[in-house]
Amino acid sequence: MWQEYLFPSSVEEALAMLAEREGRARLVAGGTDLIIELTEGRRAADCLVDITRIPELDEIALEDGMIALGANVTHRQASESPLIRERATVLAEACRAVGSLQIRNVGTLGGNVVNAMPAADGTTALLALEAEAEIADGVGRKWVPLPDLFAGPGVSTVDSTREMLTALRFQALGERQGSALERIARRRALALPILICAVVVTLSEGGENFESARIALGPVAPVPFRASQAEEGLRGAPVSLETMARAGEIAMQESHPRSSLLRASREYREEVIKVLVRRGLERAVQRAISNL
Ligand SMILES: Cc1cc2nc3c(=O)[nH]c(=O)nc-3n(C[C@H](O)[C@H](O)[C@H](O)COP(=O)(O)OP(=O)(O)OC[C@H]3O[C@@H](n4cnc5c(N)ncnc54)[C@H](O)[C@@H]3O)c2cc1C
Repeated sequence: MWQEYLFPSSVEEALAMLAEREGRARLVAGGTDLIIELTEGRRAADCLVDITRIPELDEIALEDGMIALGANVTHRQASESPLIRERATVLAEACRAVGSLQIRNVGTLGGNVVNAMPAADGTTALLALEAEAEIADGVGRKWVPLPDLFAGPGVSTVDSTREMLTALRFQALGERQGSALERIARRRALALPILICAVVVTLSEGGENFESARIALGPVAPVPFRASQAEEGLRGAPVSLETMARAGEIAMQESHPRSSLLRASREYREEVIKVLVRRGLERAVQRAISNL
């Protein structure tokens, strides 16, 4: 268990605290994942550097058509933000689906991403939004595409004993665009999903065809997954129930859900993928049509 618990007031101070302790200190935000891992002995840290008092990490802003979220934005803040609800609906829906109100009050999007679980709700929506993450270390800051952060189930390329995810950003959705989240879980509260599907669509001028579609699924692979073949099949295709059902079929074929005692059999989850992708597309299309 940790012996030291620190509250830096800036990103630079937090990184300096980590550097001084040479791998023995780790960042903590809401602590909803980390404290359990430390208690169960799945991780070790002599010192926790609590980043929840760093003001810049709480911001939600729209600038030049991009939405930027500080790493400490909680699931509750994201799900209740009028900007996120209107311009990134899929993310608001994903954050609203997380755990219980207590978890949503303190669990952060930065922690959700760095924890790198293939079933993570916020992360799956951010993947469909083609988000990037800003990573800060002792040298400087750089923007990295979200998929580059995932190295395996629960394994991030962000080293939280040395680096910090400071912000997330993505293009705000606008004209002819719509998004939606479909999720199935064993019960409403306190459970990671059996399956989650986040969809973002862009329609052609008159709304007859798909210009593009992005479909993120979890947990169907070791890392959060984009159904790229289904996306490719929708490019330029007519907006019809048939094409959306076909996209569900393709997404099912290209993903690899495993049988799991916690999350049902592979066969069941394959059937559910088809349904969630089709439903997600239908809802996203309805929203895009209202934005024509
Ligand atoms: C009962 C319960 C129910 C849950 N239900 C859901 C659910 O339905 N859906 C879901 O997706 N998740 C769920 N979770 C998981 C968890 O709440 C989320 O993943 C949450 O977003 C984690 O954020 P946090 O701020 O608590 O992270 P923490 O626990 O503070 O940190 C998680 C990891 O990220 C690192 N870290 C945190 N912030 C940063 C940063 N800015 N830069 C670098 N490293 C960082 C930490 O060192 C740690 O390794 C649940 C958890 C519990 C306990």
